Amino acid sequence: MRPPLPNLETERNQTPLDSSFAILHSDHKNNRLYSILKKVCFLGAVIHILFIFFFLSIGSLWLSVLNIFSVIIWLIAMYQNQSGRYILATLMATIETIVHAALATHFLGLSMGFHYFLWPVALLIMVSNSFSTKKSMLMGFSVILLYGALSVYAKDITYQYAFPAITDVVLLTNTILAALGFVIVMMSSQDNNTKKEKRLYEIANKDGLTGAFNRQFVYQLMKQTFSERRNLRSLDYTLVLTDIDNFKEINESMGHIVGDEVIKAVSTYLVTAVRETDIVARWGGEQFLIILMNIEPDNSQILIEKIRKNIRYQIITEGLSDRVTTLSFGVAKAKDDEKFEDTIKRADLSMYKAKKLGKDRIINAQ
Ligand code: GH3
Ligand code: MG
Repeated sequence: MRPPLPNLETERNQTPLDSSFAILHSDHKNNRLYSILKKVCFLGAVIHILFIFFFLSIGSLWLSVLNIFSVIIWLIAMYQNQSGRYILATLMATIETIVHAALATHFLGLSMGFHYFLWPVALLIMVSNSFSTKKSMLMGFSVILLYGALSVYAKDITYQYAFPAITDVVLLTNTILAALGFVIVMMSSQDNNTKKEKRLYEIANKDGLTGAFNRQFVYQLMKQTFSERRNLRSLDYTLVLTDIDNFKEINESMGHIVGDEVIKAVSTYLVTAVRETDIVARWGGEQFLIILMNIEPDNSQILIEKIRKNIRYQIITEGLSDRVTTLSFGVAKAKDDEKFEDTIKRADLSMYKAKKLGKDRIINAQ
């Protein structure tokens, strides 16, 4: 008995989103916050090493000593991040920056711009995915408020240490470093979002074993294409449903691993055999759907016949010895106004006929 064709609704419910998120979260090095913190902690440590020497040179010994502690805190934050403790690392970075900005502003005033470092830290908290959105926003907002409060508090504090002429240079340097921190947080956040989107796209739309598109993708693509094109007559495609012949025997005699390799090899060959504008999707276990776009029936016959003849030379998998792999094909050219599901049904029936008539052949639907 042939299994019934799953309908569109059943397919849609099979979105593997839960497993996608599980995979994403199990891989902590892909965590968005991990890569942001990695760069921020490195920058934080380097900046504070520079500060040690800077404060020493202007004669503020204890601010210099304080920066030794800062460097240690940034290095510990870096370690915590490496170990997957992002919340702790974020809190350490935040508290260090707040204390540092407050003390430096209290003693040196606003003219050197030490309070500017509060901005990248506020952003870091807000893009962080370790806290709830509400908490992140509240904490980020508080840090910006602190910036405002420091600006008011220290507006009359004047610089009283050595080399007053260097205030402008330090202000410029701090502005650049704070901006750099801001840009790093922003860019890594975006970069990671793009990578995550790409990964999610792959997980949601592609088959894990072969890398070919999955059913979900095909249904979505067809739905989208149909809704975009009101005039269905302009949508010209031919469906080819193909299934590996006697695949059960391969599994049974040579094992599932060899079976998997055969499926992968068939998929790879199909992708290379069709044009770039065509689509190859893994439709089921050892079944593939090829969507040939804008192709004349004569040409689709030539193409499928070429695939049918060549497949036996393409499946060279270790352990398969000299066993010949063949495919059966059911072909259906979409009629005007025909639903995608109906074209699929016709292709499926033809493929079933091809099996019944002895396999390794192409049957065209009426
Ligand atoms: P036919 O020529 O009529 O197509 O027969 P068949 O033996 O190819 O097909 P049948 O439907 O009887 O068996 C297909 C087998 O494919 C059953 C299933 O266990 C196996 N299969 C499905 N998906 C996978 C997979 O991802 N890897 C492996 N190794 N086997 C799979
Ligand atoms: Mg089969």
